[in-house]
Order: sequence, then structure tokens, then C-alpha cells
Amino acid sequence: MQKTKTYVSDTVSRLQPSGIRRFFDLAASMKGVISLGVGEPDFITPWSVREACILSLEQGYTSYTANAGLWELRKEISDYLACRFEVQYDPANEIIVTVGASQALDVSLRAILNPGDEVIVVEPSFVSYAPLVSLAGGVPIPIQTSGKHQFKLQAEQIEQVVTPKTKALIICSPNNPTGTVLNREELVQIARIVAKHDLLVISDEIYAELCYDEQYTSFPAIAHMRERTILINGFSKGFAMTGWRLGFIAAPKDLAMAMLKIHQYTMMCAPTMAQYAAIEALRNGAGDVEEMKKSYRQRRNFFVQSLNEIGLSCHMPGGAFYAFPSIESTGMTSEQFAERLLLEEKVAVVPGYVFGASGEGYIRCSYASSLEQLQEAIRRMRRFLERL
Ligand code: PMP
Repeated sequence: MQKTKTYVSDTVSRLQPSGIRRFFDLAASMKGVISLGVGEPDFITPWSVREACILSLEQGYTSYTANAGLWELRKEISDYLACRFEVQYDPANEIIVTVGASQALDVSLRAILNPGDEVIVVEPSFVSYAPLVSLAGGVPIPIQTSGKHQFKLQAEQIEQVVTPKTKALIICSPNNPTGTVLNREELVQIARIVAKHDLLVISDEIYAELCYDEQYTSFPAIAHMRERTILINGFSKGFAMTGWRLGFIAAPKDLAMAMLKIHQYTMMCAPTMAQYAAIEALRNGAGDVEEMKKSYRQRRNFFVQSLNEIGLSCHMPGGAFYAFPSIESTGMTSEQFAERLLLEEKVAVVPGYVFGASGEGYIRCSYASSLEQLQEAIRRMRRFLERL
């Protein structure tokens, strides 16, 4: 008998595919494209880290690890968080090694949400937050930040959307797609409102190593926030390890143990060889990270200044590797702008609307490309704008 129904769940049927994908597919089918679209480092993982992985394979370390991750790695993560960000987590009970920050986000949301619980998502935001909230049975509640405030969340905006069903707030600093960094004072203001409404914070700190102008403040380092924070970080961005699929969660024991229950049934453990590589990254990788950071800073300064010179107004992003210029002066939507720029000048950027309503009027450009590519991209964008 022919099948007469879809077997796909209502939740998944309602889910929209990521708007970024369409541009990637289009760009991939064209020759000579400069891509400022992808959100990943242009560096290859440092050699010593790759070598540690090879060595682990030579030694035959190919079986599962503990569910929470190799003890040596959890210990390194605990020391790293303490030294680098002044936050203390017990490697035995409060750290879980995950398959990227992506899985860390998924596990966090699934561990905390009851059906219908609301989670505040600060837009423009990383494209996965709202879908992951929905998949976990929750309801994403967007807050729109504004270019007028360099896309910084204003603490009072939280109060405007809080309801008795609000369970958590997701923050991301440095931010994808805006590059905006929240400083200690701004985090303290957010913490005040979070405590007042008894919210949990999921702090996505995946770009913490890439903070260019000021000392980074980790959210759980703010007074009284550790107990109500799930800290998410990983190796993809700062350590140039996107393909290794390795991240981690640090959270108070009760939350970490709840997440570990899901992790052990769904993942068992993160990839073993990647975990051995990550130990080396944390033990000896600081110099490499510093070099990469210096290079991003140099490219950021060139690229953002150039965008402003060619007439695309752009705030100086404090971190990550994204510039988020306004294209409002062109009168085009961000989708029209990105599509025409790609077809006419072969420069791929991401239209801001995919990151939420307040992303409309902007485009995301990743400057994790060589200086020569960035210079050529600017030349092409200048030509494009002059023709309009
Ligand atoms: N959070 C943010 C803000 C990101 O930009 C990304 C990657 N684009 C992730 C999480 C996921 O990172 P990972 O590779 O560790 O899964």
C-alpha cells in the first residue's frame, strides 16, 4: 500500500531551514567567488594539536571515553576556565565535553525546558538558538537589539518580555553575527534583572578568545551568577578546530548531571581523538591563539575602516570575526543586496534578516579571509555601490 501521510513531526515540519544555506549553495555553484559568508577561522588547526591527535591514534586510543569526557581534558578545562576567566568548576561533576558548542546548546535546552517554557533569544542571533529552543519543546521569545546601541542588549529589554513562563535567557558575547562584546558593567546590569526574575542564563562564550579591545568577562564570573548559568564554550573558533567537533559545558552540579543523562544516551561521549587533541590545545596552545587573534584584529581594523570608507556604515566589533555593516542607505533589503552582490560582483555575504528581525538592513561579513581577499572584496563592493 502507498504511504498516505508524512511521518515527520509537526515540530520539525514547522522548522524553517537556515537562510544561510541558500547563499552557500548558490556561491558554491559559481566560479571566482570571494566568500565572506562562512563563520569559521581560515587557519588550519595548529600542528602540535594535530600531532597530539595522530599520536593518540598511534597509541591505539580509539575506544569510548567516560561520558563526560576524558578526565585529563576535564581537568584542563577546569584549570583553563579558572586561569583565563576566573570561574571555578569541579572537573568531576560540573564539566561535560560535548560534540561542539552546538550539542552543548542542545543538551542545555533539553535538560531545562518543560513544554511551553519560554526562552529569551537576543536578536540578531546565531541561527541555531530559536530552532533548538523549539526542538526542546520551548518557545523562543525574541528581543530586538538595535544598531543605535551597537546591538548591545539593554537590561530593561528583558523586563519587557519576561512572563511567568520565562525560564532562561541566552546571551552570546562576543556575538555572532554582530561581533558585539558586552563589558562587565553591562553584564552586571543584565545579572540584576536575571536575579530579580529568577532566570537561568545560557551564556554562549564560543568567541571568548577572540576579544580584541578589552579584558573579557565571563558571565558566571559576575557575582551570584555562577549558580544560575550554563556556560558554553568550545574549541571551534579560538583554537581553529571547527571540524573536530569539540565543545564543553560548565554548570553547577545539579544542572550538569541532568545534562549528562541526555548526553550519555544520545552521544555516549565526544570523539576520543579530538579530546586528545584538545588537551594539547589547552596545555600549549595559548601562543597560537594569541597569533591568530593578532591577525584577526589586524584584518578587522582594515576591513571595518574600509567598509565605512566605501559608504557602508559599520560599528567597530569588539570580538569574533564578523563585521555587520548597515546597507540601509542602498534602499535594498538585505536579501536583495546579498543576492545582487553575489551575482554581479561574486562576493558572498549573509543577509542580516536570517539572524532575526533586527538584522534586516544589515549584512554579515566574516573577515576570517586573507588580507588580499578582503582587499579584493572591498574593491568589488565599492564598484557595486558606485553602480547603484
Ligand atoms: N555558537 C555560536 C554563536 C556560533 O557562532 C557557533 C558556530 N558558528 C556555535 C555556537 C557552534 O559552534 P561549534 O562548532 O562548537 O558547534
